[in-house]
Amino acid sequence: MIAGRLLAPAPGWTSQADVVVVGSGVAGVTAALAAHRALPGSRVLLVTKSVLDDGSTRWAQGGIAAALGPGDSPEQHLRDTLTAGAGLCDVAAVRALVTDGPDAVRRLIALGARFDSEPGGPLALTREGGHLRRRIAHAGGDATGAEVSRALLLALAEAGAGPHGAGLDVIEHAMSLDLLLTPDGRAAGITLHVIGEGRQDGVGAVLARAVVLATGGIGQVYSATTNPPVSTGDGLALALRGGAEAADLEFVQFHPTVLWLGAGARGRQPLISEAVRGEGAVLIDGAGRRFMTGRHPLADLAPRDVVAKAIMNVMLQTGADHVYLDGRQLGAQTWDHRFPTIRASCLEHGIDPVLEPIPVVPAAHYASGGIRTDLSGRSSVPGLYACGEVACTGVHGANRLASNSLLEGLVFAERIAADLAAGLPPQAEPAVDDRVAGLLDPAAVEQIQQLMTERAGVLRSGPGLTAAADGLREIGERQSDQPGVGAWEATNLHLIASAVVAAAAARTETRGSHWRDDYPESSDSWLGHLVVRLDSETGSGAAGTGSQSRPVHNAPAGTAARSAASSDRPTHNLAESQAQSPRTAGTVGRSAVDVDGLILTFVPDQPMGDAAGGQA
Ligand SMILES: Cc1cc2nc3c(=O)[nH]c(=O)nc-3n(C[C@H](O)[C@H](O)[C@H](O)COP(=O)(O)OP(=O)(O)OC[C@H]3O[C@@H](n4cnc5c(N)ncnc54)[C@H](O)[C@@H]3O)c2cc1C
Repeated sequence: MIAGRLLAPAPGWTSQADVVVVGSGVAGVTAALAAHRALPGSRVLLVTKSVLDDGSTRWAQGGIAAALGPGDSPEQHLRDTLTAGAGLCDVAAVRALVTDGPDAVRRLIALGARFDSEPGGPLALTREGGHLRRRIAHAGGDATGAEVSRALLLALAEAGAGPHGAGLDVIEHAMSLDLLLTPDGRAAGITLHVIGEGRQDGVGAVLARAVVLATGGIGQVYSATTNPPVSTGDGLALALRGGAEAADLEFVQFHPTVLWLGAGARGRQPLISEAVRGEGAVLIDGAGRRFMTGRHPLADLAPRDVVAKAIMNVMLQTGADHVYLDGRQLGAQTWDHRFPTIRASCLEHGIDPVLEPIPVVPAAHYASGGIRTDLSGRSSVPGLYACGEVACTGVHGANRLASNSLLEGLVFAERIAADLAAGLPPQAEPAVDDRVAGLLDPAAVEQIQQLMTERAGVLRSGPGLTAAADGLREIGERQSDQPGVGAWEATNLHLIASAVVAAAAARTETRGSHWRDDYPESSDSWLGHLVVRLDSETGSGAAGTGSQSRPVHNAPAGTAARSAASSDRPTHNLAESQAQSPRTAGTVGRSAVDVDGLILTFVPDQPMGDAAGGQA
């Protein structure tokens, strides 16, 4: 069963803010700081599930991409991003990213972030896979995220943020649960569980005129991930239950080279950046044979999805549970200068990459999809915004270009603040919440992760996804009546896993980071987006779904269903999609697999024309 809301005690306290921002990574802190600046005299409240720097941001290694170097331009950055996105990027969103990007990075530097520089002062810019120019700014060699996080959190402290800040308040150990909604489906705040002391302890309600979700990724849906434990997809699940649309959920990026920590290792695993391969490290199998040569013209520097798939195939063929990344030829000096964090994390696990090959395996890394937003970060629920990894702004399409995500967090958080400054709605009264409550047994998490890793990971197939959907339906029956962080996270993970599986089963083609063994080619009839929402019968009630009252930017007009139906481009009846029967109308359907409670709509893209410079 998919719950319409999380089972939780009734709010025992109520608090009020003009804007509540959920999450304290690059997106959340930037949104909170920018909203605080843009709305003088207003109260901005930042809440975060654990401590302030516990998200993915501080783990980011490679850097932040922006057209800052000589000879580079936003237009060239746009073209590289569109190429990586495999035909599914929203060109207007990418244009916003690459045009606003350089100034957003300069503002970050002005705020105090210290990036690596060349002798004499200019920023040291490097290249990563898919970038045709040197445009990746980095800090501390391979510790960019830690520096970005440090600078942003310092700025937050300097702005007076704290439990009783001067108009900018922060609450740590505060897990958002569900959206508070007005009778006509507008966001009116959130429910929140705080592990604290005194007045704001336990479950409470934060009434707000606008809610900004910046809760990061969904990596914990899989057994092994580069994401930290907080990345359980809470914001995405909350938004879906609140009636918002999500899109592109099938496009989960798996990083090919994550340190292998032994069979059965679960949770966050250390990343070995692809920059290590950029410096000359190569992938080898257990017998010491290079296996990327001949598979792709760029060999070991092929795009992430190609390398991840090759590794999985080698593992299947040889029966091994990992391969190796051989970086011995880099030498101690390069390792220590360029990759001090990575070498230290290998040494922590008993491997010295200067002397021996590193055992590696692919792991879940980045969600290109998320809550569907327009160019101002607005979701399909009025008053609900999203930015950072939880959002689907359209910039990543079917595959994120390396180092575009920190930039997306900065740029779209600032765009949200600008939209809020243009006019906040009055505080509305939430309706009585009569959505059906549910809660999963926390012990189900391991089962969800295992199922997703085996059936909906790097390599996917129709039968595997059907088995995943069946398994998830069974897991959904493992209900609990004991509210708590573990059970809330399990319930969120189950909803996200179900939505990923539904979308992955429906998309009967291979594109970007979505690989279908049974449909190995891309098909032009799939040039568009799978939009997922909760069936209104699941999240029913006055405060439930059906609130898509405002067009989202890449739908031609009106709701997703209307826009798809009114388009003359081929669309899919998803119930028939496994039989590859494109239709021209009737686009709202259930997934090709039976995932109760979710509705999928295929929204075809507009032809990109000149806007894309011919690069789809
Ligand atoms: C190992 C690694 C390396 C990476 N390298 C790069 C790179 O080099 N360049 C690049 O551009 N990108 C990189 N990425 C991706 C990038 O780091 C992330 O996409 C980005 O940092 C996400 O920022 P965010 O603010 O959206 O989310 P996060 O930084 O993940 O922050 C999410 C926040 O939301 C909070 N939260 C979650 N759920 C709740 C809840 N229910 N209630 C309250 N708070 C909640 C979390 O506690 C956290 O504070 C990397 C990612 C990883 C994991």
